[in-house]
This record gives sequence, structure tokens and C-alpha cells, in this order.
Amino acid sequence: MDDIANSNARVTQLKTRLEQKEDELQALVQLAGNERETLDVLVSRLMLACRGLDRELDNRMAKLKPHLEKHTAIQQLNDDINAIELLLTRYGMIQEQLLQQSGEKVKSQANELIRNSILPEKVRREAREFLAAEKPYTFGDHQQRIFRLLEIYQMAFRALMLRPNVSPAAAEPATQTDLSTAFKAEDQEPVTRLTGIDDIALSLSNIDPGLLSKLHDELQRLITELDFHGPAAEKLAVIRRRLLNGVSCQDLPPLCLELITLIIEGARYERAQSFAFVHAIGEKLQINHADLQNCLGIAQDLAQEDKGQDQKLADQLRQLRELVTASDSLTELKRIVPAHLVIMDAVLQERFLRQRKEQELLEQVAALTERLKATEEDAANYKNRLNRQQQRLQVDTLTQLHNRSALDERLALEYKRWLRYQSPLCLAIVDVDHFKAINDQFGHLAGDKALKVIARALSTALRDTDFVARFGGEEFVVLLPGISEDSIQLPLDKLRSVIKGIPFRFKDERISISISLGATLFRSGDRITDAFERADKALYEAKNAGRDRIIITL
Ligand code: GH3
Ligand code: MG
Ligand code: MG
Repeated sequence: MDDIANSNARVTQLKTRLEQKEDELQALVQLAGNERETLDVLVSRLMLACRGLDRELDNRMAKLKPHLEKHTAIQQLNDDINAIELLLTRYGMIQEQLLQQSGEKVKSQANELIRNSILPEKVRREAREFLAAEKPYTFGDHQQRIFRLLEIYQMAFRALMLRPNVSPAAAEPATQTDLSTAFKAEDQEPVTRLTGIDDIALSLSNIDPGLLSKLHDELQRLITELDFHGPAAEKLAVIRRRLLNGVSCQDLPPLCLELITLIIEGARYERAQSFAFVHAIGEKLQINHADLQNCLGIAQDLAQEDKGQDQKLADQLRQLRELVTASDSLTELKRIVPAHLVIMDAVLQERFLRQRKEQELLEQVAALTERLKATEEDAANYKNRLNRQQQRLQVDTLTQLHNRSALDERLALEYKRWLRYQSPLCLAIVDVDHFKAINDQFGHLAGDKALKVIARALSTALRDTDFVARFGGEEFVVLLPGISEDSIQLPLDKLRSVIKGIPFRFKDERISISISLGATLFRSGDRITDAFERADKALYEAKNAGRDRIIITL
């Protein structure tokens, strides 16, 4: 009996537990249903957010949507879900790449603005701050950054186009030290406008600012190549000062015209000087020639007279000898001889006169020789002057280094040697860092002085067989012939540290100036321009990597 009662109690207990478990299961199913619904809603919303990113992704998601609404079993949707996951991964990678590429582009555009010396400092400062700002994380951050860059470009555009007669540098607030204020005051040249070119100036305002900046730089470089004497030299100095202070695009055409006029004036001046010299030498030679003809005539006459007198004397002597031989009477001899002696005396008198003429002729010839010597000296001086002029054409007037034309010549020579002997040739471009700031802060005269010191230091730090030239502005080119690949770094680093170590002092401020270098070795198949492009690119990288460094592209 007890057993039956126990069994019943046990069954009742089990039944209760079963009912409990059924309730729990019911609750779990309910929960799973709710969670699935939440997930489906989340997925639908994510799909909505992703719509329009990619056509194939859109199609796949459109196919999935009704299944989510119907809560189709996940196993049946596996293929679609996998495909969507793949598309999303691919899309994410492409986005990453695009973001990186456009980030680089934005950076290089901002750098362009910074390097563009024609722009006002304010714009370039904005660009520098822009570059220094935190890197974008989200797509939205990135978009904001592009908008900001556009704003800076707009500022640059306005500065260039809407302030026609104000040079960008002059429009800046005065932030210079006493020293630079003094230089600036002296630099404020009135802008002389030439008539008839306003139209050109107006149409120039539509030109790409990058192109204008290149024109500005090229003009500045050209001026460093010119070496005038006489009245043109002072005018050239004025134009150079104005360019260094920065000119607006409207002022560039008149400045170009002034420069062309000046070059013509300079050439005329040189030509007039040469003409005057050649003319003077020509006249001297003409006079000398006439004197020489005269001397020759006299010498011929004298030689003729000489012959006649000698003949006369010989005749008289012969006659006397015959008389003496034929005559045996002294009385007769006494009578005849005096007549002969008179004749001989006359001949001797003539001879004496001729000797005096000869003496005069000798004096004339000596004077003529002196004059010819002087003319020869004049011609030699002129030749020296031409030689000096030729040398000057190869020297940069400011720094006394070789100029671009000398560089072209030497580079052509080294290139030929390299082609022939295949001994390595290194080409490096040196650019002074933030040099514009030195001009802006302390004035261009201080800048000029710094350039001279840098140039001297560069040339002293190199070996005799190396070569350095001023390439233009604050850029130099160095050639290191016969240097091996693994020993390039050392001499270039010496240049960098020598310049860094110069104790520049502007007013009472101690300043350190650094340089960046881009270098390369000539590679097989290279033209000169290829090596130049590589070195220039390396220099650009050195600038972007923070300046005061060397990048070597082998
Ligand atoms: P970065 O580090 O990017 O090279 O900056 P930077 O300021 O040196 O370069 P940028 O090209 O902006 O400016 C070069 C400056 O050099 C502008 C120009 O006025 C100045 N410059 C060029 N030639 C001369 C010169 O003969 N004398 C003086 N004083 N300045 C010069
Ligand atoms: Mg430069
Ligand atoms: Mg520079």
C-alpha cells in the first residue's frame, strides 16, 4: 500500500516539475522570439543606414529584408548574410584607402599653400595650423577638414584677386622686430605702373595662383643671374627689393616690362662701352698707321739719298785716285784737288744732314713704338675686362658662388664623365628651411646676409673636387662626383650640421637656421632631368617629414 502511495506522490511531484519546465521553456521561446525581433529591427536599421553605399550591397540587402520581416530561420539566410558580410568588408577597405588618399591630397594641397611665397603670411599660417591640427578619424571629420581647406583656399583667392594694388606682404599686420621695421620702411618703393598693360594685369587676375607663384620665383631667380654695371644696376636693385617684398599679380606684368627694359638698357650700356673702346683703339691705330707710312716714306728717301751720296763720294775718290796716279806735277795736283775736295765736302755736309734726319726718324719710330705699346696695353686691358665679364657671367653676384649657368656647364661635363667612366655621381638639392620667415621677421637685407654666410659655409664644407652653385633664391645644388653609395650620407650630413651650427644673430636674437636636402645618384639610363626630378622629390619629402633632414633616393 505504502508503495502505491509513494509512487503516486512521486508521479505528482514529477508532473509538477514537468509543468514548471514547460513554463520555463515557454518563457525562453518567448525571449528568443523577442531577441530575434530586436536583432531583426537592428539589422533593418543598419541596412537602411548602409543604403546607397554600393549597388550590389543594396541588391543583397533588398533581398534579405522580407526574410527578416517574416523571421525566416537564420540557417536559410546563411548565403545572403555571408555575401553581405564580404561586400561590407570590401567596401570598408576601399573606404579606408580612399580616406587615406584624400588625406594625402589634402595634406599636399595645404603644403602647396605654405610653400607659395606670393600668398600673405596670414593665409600660409592658417595652412600651417590646418596641417598641425589633429588627424581626422571619421568620414565626417574628414569632410569638415576639406571644408576648412576650401575656406583657406578662398582666403588665398581673395588675397590674390580682390586686393589688386596691395602687395600681399604689405597687407600683413606689422609683426616685425625693430630691425625689420627699419628695412621695411626703406623697402616701400612706390609702384610705378607702365601704361598700356593694365589689360594684361586684369587678365592675369584669372591665372592660377600656382602659375603666378612660379612666375614670381622664376623672375626672382633671373634677377640673381643678372649683373649690371652703370645706371641699370641701381634700378635692378630696386626691382629685386620689390620682388623680395612680394608683389601682387597685377604688379607682376609692369615689373616684367621694367625688367625687360632694364635688360635692354644694360645691354645698350655694355654695347656703348665696347663701341667707345673699339672706336678709340681704331682711331689710335689709324693715326699710328699714318705716322708709320710717313716714317717709311722718309726712310725710303733717306736710303735713296744715302745711295746717291755714297756713289758721289766713291766717284770723287776714284777721280782723285786717277788724278794722283796720272799727274806727276804737285803744282797741277794743288790746282785740281781743291775742286774735288769742295765737292766731297758738300757731299759730307749732305751726309751730315741725312744723319740728322735719320736721328729724327729714329726718334719718331721710338715714339710710334711707345704709342703702339700703349695701344697694345689698352687692347690687353679690354681683353681682361672681357675675360672678367665672362667669369662674372658664371658667378652669382650675391653669394659669389657659381650660378645656374656655371652649374649647367659643370653638370653637363660631370654627366659626360659619368656616362663614359660610370664612376658614381651624386646630385643634391639644398633648400633653406623657413627662409621666408627670416625675411618677414628681419627684412630682406638680413636675409641676404644670411644667404651669403650659408653659401660660404657650404662651399667651405665641401671637398675641392665637389661643386656647389646657387640654384636660385634660397636653393643650392651640390655635385659630389666619384662618391660611393654608402658614403653619400657623411658629406651631406656635414653640410646640414655646419649650417645648423652657425651662430646667426639678428639684432640681439640668436637664431639657428636649418637646411633640408634631397639627394640622388645618377642611375643607368638617366637623363640629367631625371636625377633632378628625383632629388627634388626627395627634398619635398624631407620638407614634409619636418625639415632639417636629408632624404637620399638611390
Ligand atoms: P621651406 O622650408 O618650405 O623651404 O620654406 P621657405 O620659407 O624657405 O620657402 P619659400 O619658397 O616659401 O620662401 C623662400 C623665400 O626665400 C621667399 C623669398 O622671398 C626668399 N628669397 C629668395 N631669394 C632671396 C634673396 O636673394 N634674398 C632674400 N633675402 N630672400 C630671398
Ligand atoms: Mg625654396
Ligand atoms: Mg626654403
